[in-house]
Amino acid sequence: MENKDRVTMDCRTKPDANCSLLISGTEPEVLELAEYHVTTKHGFKKDAGLRDQLRSLLKRESFAR
Ligand SMILES: [Zn+2]
Repeated sequence: MENKDRVTMDCRTKPDANCSLLISGTEPEVLELAEYHVTTKHGFKKDAGLRDQLRSLLKRESFAR
């Protein structure tokens, strides 16, 4: 997996339909911000499983070539 690929997490799809935030960047960048966002805004618990949970919400951008 190419680590420089850009991924997005669309909060409007998950984890909260009432939130419109869209986070985009490389996977480590998005995970860092997403972790902060969902723990402060959506009451998620910061535990060992959180990053795995967030990782499952990421969408990989695909570019037409
Ligand atoms: Zn949100």
